[in-house]
Amino acid sequence: MKKDQSSNRHHNGPVVILDIDYTVFTSPTFRRNFYTQLTEKLGYAKESEFLSLARKAEQQTKEEEGYFNPTVFLKHLKQISHTDVPATELEQILFDESLYIESVYEEARSLFQKLVIEQDIPVNIFSTGEKKFHKQKMDAFKEMLQEDQTHIEIVGMKRLRDVLQNYDGYHVYLVDDLPTILKEAKGLRSDITTIWVNKDKKTEKDFVKNFQSDYIIENLVEIATIVSEKMWGDNIE
Ligand SMILES: [Mg+2]
Repeated sequence: MKKDQSSNRHHNGPVVILDIDYTVFTSPTFRRNFYTQLTEKLGYAKESEFLSLARKAEQQTKEEEGYFNPTVFLKHLKQISHTDVPATELEQILFDESLYIESVYEEARSLFQKLVIEQDIPVNIFSTGEKKFHKQKMDAFKEMLQEDQTHIEIVGMKRLRDVLQNYDGYHVYLVDDLPTILKEAKGLRSDITTIWVNKDKKTEKDFVKNFQSDYIIENLVEIATIVSEKMWGDNIE
C-alpha cells in the first residue's frame, strides 16, 4: 500500500494459474490405478490379460468419441469382456474421488501449502478442454481442496483469453506443460510470467518456434521461490 497504485499495473498482487493435465494431475497414474482396480473387479489374475481387452476398448472409445472418455470406455470394456459385473459397479470405480486425488502430484499439494497457506497468494487451476472427463477431475479437486480448507479457485473449462481476463490487474504466473499454451497466453497478455513445467526433461515434446518461456522448472515447488523473488524485487524498486 506504499505505492501510488494508479501507476502500478499489478496493483492486485500475484496470482498463480496452473494447467491441470500433466501439470498438477498425472494422467498415467490415474490410468494405472483405474486399470488395476478394473482388473480386480473383472476377476483377471493377470493384468496383461486385462490390458489386451482394455486396449481394444480404448481404440473403440477413441473412434467413437475422439478422445478417452472413461464412461464410454467402460461401456466397450463391458461388451468386450462379456463380464457379468453390472455397469454401475464398474462406474463406481470411475466415480470414486480417491482415484482422482491420488493422481494429483505430491508437489502440487506442497506448492498450494507454500503459496496459499503460508503467503496468501491466490492459486487457480484451469483446463481449456471441454470434456466431461475434465469436469470429473475438477469436481474431485474441489472436494480435495475443501478438505484442505484452502482457498483455491477452480476456473474450470474456460478459454485461455477468459481465464486471463479474470485477472486483469494481477501479476499472472501461468504454468503449463505445453509451450504452445504459454506462447498463446503471452500473445494475449505480454505482461504475464510464463513458467514451463518440464518434469521429465522431455525437451521439445511440444516444440514452439520463436518462443522461450520466462522460466523452466522441473518441480512445481520452484514456483513459490519465483513468485517470492519477484515480490521482493517489486518492493525494492
Ligand atoms: Mg497440460
